[in-house]
Amino acid sequence: MDFSASSNINDKGFELLANALPLIVWSARPDGFIDFFNQKWYDYTGFPKNLGGDQSWVPILHPDDIKFCIDTWYHSIKTGEPYKIEYRFVDPENIGKYRWFLGTALPVKNETGEIVRWFGTCTDINDQKNIETRFRDSEEKFHFMCDAMPQHVWTADAFGQFDYFNQRTLNYFDKPAVDILSNWWTECVHEDDSRKAHTIWKEALSTGEPFEVEFRLKDKDGHYKWHLSRATPFINKDAEIKWFGTNTDIEEHKLNEQKKDEFIGIASHELKTPVTSLKGYVHVLRSKIQDTPNNHAVEFLNRMDVQVNKLNKLIGDVLDVTRLDSRHLHLTKQDIDFRDVILEAVDNVQHIATHHKIVLETDGSIPFTGDKLRLEQVISNFLTNAIKYSPDKDKVIVKYRREKNNIITSIQDFGIGIERENLTRLFDRFYRVDNTSMKFQGLGLGLYIASEIIKAHNGSFWIESEPGKGSIFFFLLPVDEQNGGVNIETDNQTFYSEDQVSIKYNKVHDRLDVSWMGFQNLQSVKRGCNVMLDLLKKNNCSKVLNDNTFVTGNWSEASDWGGKIWFPAMQEAGLKYFAWIYSPSTFSQLAANKSIDVMLGKITTQFFAEKKDAEKWLNSLDKKAKVIR
Ligand code: ADP
Repeated sequence: MDFSASSNINDKGFELLANALPLIVWSARPDGFIDFFNQKWYDYTGFPKNLGGDQSWVPILHPDDIKFCIDTWYHSIKTGEPYKIEYRFVDPENIGKYRWFLGTALPVKNETGEIVRWFGTCTDINDQKNIETRFRDSEEKFHFMCDAMPQHVWTADAFGQFDYFNQRTLNYFDKPAVDILSNWWTECVHEDDSRKAHTIWKEALSTGEPFEVEFRLKDKDGHYKWHLSRATPFINKDAEIKWFGTNTDIEEHKLNEQKKDEFIGIASHELKTPVTSLKGYVHVLRSKIQDTPNNHAVEFLNRMDVQVNKLNKLIGDVLDVTRLDSRHLHLTKQDIDFRDVILEAVDNVQHIATHHKIVLETDGSIPFTGDKLRLEQVISNFLTNAIKYSPDKDKVIVKYRREKNNIITSIQDFGIGIERENLTRLFDRFYRVDNTSMKFQGLGLGLYIASEIIKAHNGSFWIESEPGKGSIFFFLLPVDEQNGGVNIETDNQTFYSEDQVSIKYNKVHDRLDVSWMGFQNLQSVKRGCNVMLDLLKKNNCSKVLNDNTFVTGNWSEASDWGGKIWFPAMQEAGLKYFAWIYSPSTFSQLAANKSIDVMLGKITTQFFAEKKDAEKWLNSLDKKAKVIR
């Protein structure tokens, strides 16, 4: 008999609808006798159409699920309760295998509450189940691995809310996870470290940059131990962020560092005293024999003086580095004239430079608040380097100027220069360019100390250099910070302009025209980029002409943020093509390349030296788009 044709379903529309559905649909009489299956059932089972009845589904069930399914179904028939259960049916395409299904059944009642019919469905959830199992397996593996690690391991959501600690963390604090996560910053982290660490954590959450900080954690016995905490954001394809972090016990390392620093501190201090006396005696001796006919002795004393000065500087640098490491480099800031700092440094270095003339090309007064001696040290360091690394030349040029709220100073030499790939590492501690380290004496500390002093004045630095032709070291110091507000003009829809960037929606070419100017830092880049994102969305366009021709400074701090956070957001907002006109500053070029290297997403980006070429490229995309339309 044709089972579906002889069914009691009088609504033919239901049958049509049921056959159109991508899941198995059935209906049964109130006593449980199944009198209808849709086409999907016959397609799946391969059963002939006249095979129906109350238990036609039993033979294809997994043996372990038979009893449970029959019991559930008869319970529903008896009580009228609907059901929703998971079970396995034979997989017709894989002999010996089964597929998971979700089965549901609902009773239909008449006005008197009597069940007149059952409707049910069987949905294939095998793929979903497999994913769930795989996910559960990988989560179990992840937890197993984390528990085996010698560190604390934790995860947190995009808002910084912890949601997992490995067993080692729980053992360290001997507290339940909920207590740790609710009292982390107040109870677990030492109060002297908590505020700073919390600020760095919040900054990492807002920028999406990796987090790294050292703090002391209180163990279950109330003892504090130094830990290095590190976390990296994992961004999935839906741009959701999850933080994975570790805390590594560095207590022993800290103690050793402390001992080493104390030793170097004491040793260099002890060395300084005899060297200072030596210098004094050299001066006394020189003044005594200055007028005697034996001027060879004076010459030797002068040479001795130079060597003593070098020794003095080396000891000073080593002392400064230990101070920097233990954060004891104190600045004494006062109101000064920046010109005096330059003059003093130029004078001191000129005094010992025998072959080079230091040419000071600017000479104006600029009031500034800073540590005079430390700033002199910065300039002296750039100057001595300029002289040291240009042994065959005889000139070094120093310039300084006030540009808006910044003092920009440059020290130029015409010496050996620096390869592009070494530029950004020069300010690292102990870094020396390989091919210079054999020929020139030095420890690789001077630029590191200079950079720390500049940073302590909220400044920054960058270099322009060409191997064989020479280098220009720049540094920038912000003046009068309280008057450094931004003058913004905007119509909020198509146009935005301030000192460091202007952004316009170009209606003719349906793109954003962005022009960056002057010195950039993380704040200015973020401000401009966020406006760009806003205007891109408002004008619904997919192209950006990003002009850096007039960018002066180094803004590499912004590259990671740009690549990992901002570009993906721009892509989501519809950005497809990004034409990037390079800044003439090598540092900025390196920063631009870095953003693209770390970029997550698929935006077509091209770099250009000339604006007209960038425009040509974007215009050619206009034409292509028109042809496609
Ligand atoms: P040091 O000169 O004692 O090695 P610095 O920290 O002052 O240490 O400089 C780090 C490195 O930077 C130097 O070893 C050298 O390779 C490079 N460098 C610094 N200044 C210049 C310069 N003016 N020209 C070429 N290379 C330089």
